Amino acid sequence: MNILIFGPNGSGKGTQGALVKKKYDLAHIESGAIFREHIGGGTELGKQAKAFIERGDLVPDDITIPMVLETLKSKGANGWLLDGFPRNMVQAQKLWDALQAEGMKLDYVIEILLPREVAKNRIMGRRLCKNDNNHPNNIFIDAIKPNGDVCRVCGGELSARSDDQDEGAIGKRHDIYYNTVDGTLAAAYFYKDLAAKGMTKYIELDGEGAIDAIKDKLLAQLS
Ligand code: AMP
Repeated sequence: MNILIFGPNGSGKGTQGALVKKKYDLAHIESGAIFREHIGGGTELGKQAKAFIERGDLVPDDITIPMVLETLKSKGANGWLLDGFPRNMVQAQKLWDALQAEGMKLDYVIEILLPREVAKNRIMGRRLCKNDNNHPNNIFIDAIKPNGDVCRVCGGELSARSDDQDEGAIGKRHDIYYNTVDGTLAAAYFYKDLAAKGMTKYIELDGEGAIDAIKDKLLAQLS
């Protein structure tokens, strides 16, 4: 099964993606993670991409597109979940052309819908537990509100990630995501149009619910 997943930063896309990946045993191909690996490994590609990523800009298409298509071919033979790509119209079109050329099917496109203001609050509300990164705490989400100012799971000390508090950087990323002319939502709608022509299936999920409820709705529609 081959799947594309769209959702703004703060929508729970990573969490839902991980659940789907596990259930269908897919290769989870995340463009941002591939860049981070290259930067960590000090590769030429990593050096080229670093400055763009640090500014919160998109890495140019001539670096990003071949990198992702190569990874799809090398790691995705038994099904993939592509996350973080495409992020603009050029990438959307190039991906579709490449899939056609390779005879690869795109089974589902998932879009997690979340209003921009809600997404921003969710990011700014995230708190990290000193004892365990996986203890979920968010001052703006009722289901996972901290216990006073300590971790709701273990009572550990909480802190906020500095990049989660950077409104300028959050705004820049959301400008790209919510752009319906040539940004990421335009890319998502490119596939929505293809779905209307029967060429793939498009699943819209309300991202405001609880993680489990969203997961159940999603899994019920995939199969
Ligand atoms: P992410 O982890 O998905 O938020 O990606 C981190 C950063 O990697 C982004 O802010 C971009 O600078 C870069 N990046 C990831 N995916 C893409 C893409 N499809 N096109 C261009 N740049 C990307």
